[in-house]
Amino acid sequence: MVKSNPVLGIIGGGQLGAMLATAAKKLKIKTIVLSEDEKAPAKKFCDEIIISKYDKLKSIDNFVSKVDVVTFEFENIPFKVLKYISKIKPVFPKPSINQIVQNRFTEKNFINDIGIKTTNYALVKNQSDILNNEDLLPGLLKTCTLGYDGKGQFVLNNKKDASELAIQFNKEYILEKKVDLKKEISIVITRFLNNDFVIYEPIENLHVDQMLHKAKIPADIEKIISEKAQQQAKLIAEKLDYIGTMCVEYFIDKKNNLFVNEIAPRVHNSGHLTINTHNSSQFENHIRAVCNLEKVELKKIYNAEMINIIGEEIKTYREKLYSKNEFFFDYLKSEIKEKRKMGHLTIIKPQT
Ligand code: AMP
Repeated sequence: MVKSNPVLGIIGGGQLGAMLATAAKKLKIKTIVLSEDEKAPAKKFCDEIIISKYDKLKSIDNFVSKVDVVTFEFENIPFKVLKYISKIKPVFPKPSINQIVQNRFTEKNFINDIGIKTTNYALVKNQSDILNNEDLLPGLLKTCTLGYDGKGQFVLNNKKDASELAIQFNKEYILEKKVDLKKEISIVITRFLNNDFVIYEPIENLHVDQMLHKAKIPADIEKIISEKAQQQAKLIAEKLDYIGTMCVEYFIDKKNNLFVNEIAPRVHNSGHLTINTHNSSQFENHIRAVCNLEKVELKKIYNAEMINIIGEEIKTYREKLYSKNEFFFDYLKSEIKEKRKMGHLTIIKPQT
């Protein structure tokens, strides 16, 4: 059980950690961030930061001794570290969820096992596994673990692409059938300790080069798909016994089939607009859930569009003047890198 007014430990000090710490401050919850990066964006927003590798036991013990409950901003923290921490203090969402979703193959198996559709897929250990799954071409070959924003992914249009593939199969891959995409949406949902939920309306996402470029509400989709996606996200959260905010990403194909792409066991980039569109953001809801605070009923105040600011683009955005309906978030990262998320802009619009 989480004690009242707990000190919250957050593993990861990127922009998600920073936005979580900001939301916690608003709720008068003290935060201690554990980060590998000395210049972590969250440093400026949390109450204390511990800089250490995530598997250094002495630092982990120090971090754990100072907090009452632990959460994280990204899913790729070594499972054994989360498991170790969870023996001492509550960790939300629970580590076993990470074990399922850290691996694209076990994640897709879980989703299908509970009766929800994904695109067809196969586990790939070598080149002939691809050639033996010709029906999955055109497809995308992805590393089973790690890899995000299109990293570690290869588009295979035909058998020729597959036979010319120059990779060493020193890790496991998954081959996914390419979906003939009409749209991509995501559902952000927060589940509380008493099986209560808050769920946002679907967010429509536009990806460029496999990276999220824009997100907007309302999504331009049919009501039946919207309801189905929300029901599926609820079922996934329930089956995982999830506590906190999570995001389910979906594909809608040209025939209006809905497929789950992946589950993010954390706050999500597409949900950043909720800071400006709702009475309670995805970050605030996460803090409320993991710290066992009161749930607030969601109220939408605005529609909005959010644009990710990548790499060098940040320079222009830092110079711009903004109008009253535009909200610029600078993640204050110490270094500009190509393809690195440097900030975002949310433009609010009246509800129609
Ligand atoms: P992921 O990192 O797996 O979420 O992929 C990033 C983006 O690449 C997705 O949001 C899609 O735009 C695209 N993508 C990934 N997998 C597929 C697929 N099987 N079919 C069509 N597009 C895909």
